[in-house]
Amino acid sequence: MDNAARAGAYADMDFDADILIAGGGINGTATALALASAGFHVMLVEPRSRAERKANDFDGRSYAFAISSMRVLFALGVWPRLKDVQPILRIKVTDGRPGEGPSPLMLTFDHGEIEEGPLGYMVEDRHLRSELLDAAEDAGVTQMDDRVIEHNADRSGALASLGSGATRRVRLLVACDGQKSRIAGRVGIRRMGWSYGQTALVCTIAHEQPHQGIAHQFFVPAGPLAILPLSGHRSSIVWTERAARAETVQAMSEGDYLDELRPRFGRFLGEVALAGRRTAYPLRLSIAERFIADRVALVGDAAHVAH
Ligand SMILES: Cc1cc2nc3c(=O)[nH]c(=O)nc-3n(C[C@H](O)[C@H](O)[C@H](O)COP(=O)(O)OP(=O)(O)OC[C@H]3O[C@@H](n4cnc5c(N)ncnc54)[C@H](O)[C@@H]3O)c2cc1C
Repeated sequence: MDNAARAGAYADMDFDADILIAGGGINGTATALALASAGFHVMLVEPRSRAERKANDFDGRSYAFAISSMRVLFALGVWPRLKDVQPILRIKVTDGRPGEGPSPLMLTFDHGEIEEGPLGYMVEDRHLRSELLDAAEDAGVTQMDDRVIEHNADRSGALASLGSGATRRVRLLVACDGQKSRIAGRVGIRRMGWSYGQTALVCTIAHEQPHQGIAHQFFVPAGPLAILPLSGHRSSIVWTERAARAETVQAMSEGDYLDELRPRFGRFLGEVALAGRRTAYPLRLSIAERFIADRVALVGDAAHVAH
């Protein structure tokens, strides 16, 4: 090439893709899908195999989607594909002490007040993960079972080195590599945050009575207990306890665990039984001081962990 300026421009165009996304959790996959749908050539690099990410095992995690989040998934074509979506028709918020029942004063939000259909929706993690992945593939996202182990970025582009030894040069590197984002660390983005000293005990219960699409938030001294409607006679429980107590409860047998839960829960749904695994998530705030650096953007938990 005899024209130096032109040579520079051509060098700039020498990219393997427009965007490389590191991390194929729900945020990485959704971001990949959105960007591919907008016409960008996107690579998604995730060390966990596709089979593992599509596995139908239920870890008990479900998401509460506000209408705005539902609209995003609708625009991306994912919403109509989702199974077992449960509308939230009413939300009841109250407080009290375990075993003493709720306070007579409560806040109630009813979907009739917003005239836009349900207040929100509950979706199980396993269904969301799987449908996002399929939709991303259909949209032409190039998926690589690999890991970003190093990268260099400046104003002209980003070069990612992968665990397999391959390298990829892209216009933008999007870090969706979770709350311990190494990419953020490498570009010198610091984080602030703290532990709440609380743990969310998460499980799904099957119950005798219908939930009628009602979500409950019951505030007790150790933290909130959320009872969130799932399809059928099932509800997702997010039960917040102080960390040490949560560890004890999580180690209990199923019977003892339910005996501990029942006084918080009351009898309004009739008999209850566990319907799936029990998990425990320590709760913390963690937020990056900046969400961008030269040719690098942080998305999802890499940018901001709310819990
Ligand atoms: C019980 C529970 C309920 C929740 N409910 C809600 C809710 O209702 N609404 C809501 O918005 N959020 C909710 N959350 C939070 C939500 O689950 C997380 O915010 C979300 O899963 C984070 O997704 P992510 O893709 O950002 O990160 P992760 O899920 O942490 O994914 C990061 C991915 O990056 C990969 N990775 C790591 N390092 C590399 C690397 N070097 N190269 C390539 N890949 C890499 C990992 O393998 C992993 O797959 C809930 C969480 C819990 C525990």
